Amino acid sequence: TRIVVYGSTCGIASGALKVLEAIEKAVGKTGRDDVEILQHGCMGCCFIEPYISVRQEGNSTLYGFLDAEKACHVVESHLLRGEVLHDYRIDESMPFFRRQERRITGLLGVIDPLSIEDYIHHEGYAGLAEALRKDSADILQEVNGSGLRGRGGAGFPTGRKWQFARQARGDQKYVVCNADEGDPGAYMNRAEIEGNPHAVLEGMAIAGYVIGANRGYIYVRAEYPLAVETLRKAVAQAREYGLLGKNILGTSFDFDIEIFLGSGAFVCGEETALLASLEQKRGNPRHRPPFPAIEGLFGKPTVINNVGTLSNIPLIIRKGAQWWKSVGTDTTRGTKVFCLTGKIRNSGLIEVPMGITMKEIVFDIGGGIPDEKKFKAAQLGGPSGGFIPAEHLDLPIDYESLQTIGSIMGSGGMVILDEDSCMVDAAHFFLQFDQDESCGQCVPCRIGLPLMIRMLEKISGGKGEMSDLENLTVVAESLRKTSLCALGQTAANPTLSTLRFFRDEYEAHIRDKK
Ligand code: SF4
Repeated sequence: TRIVVYGSTCGIASGALKVLEAIEKAVGKTGRDDVEILQHGCMGCCFIEPYISVRQEGNSTLYGFLDAEKACHVVESHLLRGEVLHDYRIDESMPFFRRQERRITGLLGVIDPLSIEDYIHHEGYAGLAEALRKDSADILQEVNGSGLRGRGGAGFPTGRKWQFARQARGDQKYVVCNADEGDPGAYMNRAEIEGNPHAVLEGMAIAGYVIGANRGYIYVRAEYPLAVETLRKAVAQAREYGLLGKNILGTSFDFDIEIFLGSGAFVCGEETALLASLEQKRGNPRHRPPFPAIEGLFGKPTVINNVGTLSNIPLIIRKGAQWWKSVGTDTTRGTKVFCLTGKIRNSGLIEVPMGITMKEIVFDIGGGIPDEKKFKAAQLGGPSGGFIPAEHLDLPIDYESLQTIGSIMGSGGMVILDEDSCMVDAAHFFLQFDQDESCGQCVPCRIGLPLMIRMLEKISGGKGEMSDLENLTVVAESLRKTSLCALGQTAANPTLSTLRFFRDEYEAHIRDKK
């Protein structure tokens, strides 16, 4: 018998360690020595935390909404009397689970993230082994053939990026994993690393093999201590097993990884700022070209991929591009992990096929809006993104469809707003976030953002004029056209999106003077 306590950072914050301690005591009292108690990463069901599963003879029962006392009842009932406590049992056939396509999240909660043996037991590192048996050009072709696009937000084809770095001339090349997740409402990378760190390492090693790099860096947020610790242990284990370091799996391929902690600057998620920070300089973005694939870290060809992108690589190599692209739309293949948060019943980490509609996400997987309130909008892409209003609930989620309504895929933050949310306040929140995080080196962003914030505050304070709406649009457009990096270029998106779909709310503030 195995009892698994799902204890990523989010689980721990909601009391998973107290539950773990209570279970250890309860099992101790039963006198059973055939019960293994484990702490795994989360499966993504934030709405039922803290939660556990009891696994016996091939059966698994999921229990949620626990605390220490309830967990003791569950364990006593299940282990001593063989009775399932239905009050806390979670039905795993509910749409939250059934409607997902769990691929890169498939092992979250299933394996022990601190055990490389467990990962290997679940076909881990088989992708790397397969890659090393083949010519690196064939592996590149497979990645290109899958149609994988970067999961960090921009959606650039991963294979093409690798090809540029592979063809670039350089005595040294690098692979960098961007784990500097900073969007409000986004925690995909943290959960992916905390639940299955080796998938990222394996993806990086395959990237290194394809482009000819022998060195990789993971740039991870220092605010994610559990993810950092998990990565450090995973790297040490991979070295011990000959899966990182010299002559990997007995071949002539060398590749090693270093962990680098970011210092909490959102702008360092921008790739040129991230590279500057890795070089121990101030994390300021720079002009592109040259692109990092040609001239990146220390001036050398560098591939920068997000955690989600890299986690897909072992699957593509192991199961093949045809299998991988069997879900999704014509232009956007595969699945995408989102963090479904805000005014939603079933909040959590979800992985869905590209092309799914917002309606299916909110009302099937998410279970709808709490307290019988009405859905107002979904915010995608954090401070760079836009809002999807109720009239576009049937829009398929793919890069191109989202662009048609001024939204973006983003890295995976998906915040749901209900009828009580003020859209002017929502726009203000994201502008304020961008202003706080701007590096301030270029004028449009440094001056334009405070200007827009003042206009929004004037409107929401009941002192606005109709002409302020035109002025907001003019400043927003100039920010978009003239800022140096994506932070400034996209900072006005949430405001423009609310002006497009919720202009009546702005006008009501101005008209009613409140
Ligand atoms: Fe810095 Fe903003 Fe300019 Fe980007 S747009 S370089 S964040 S000032």
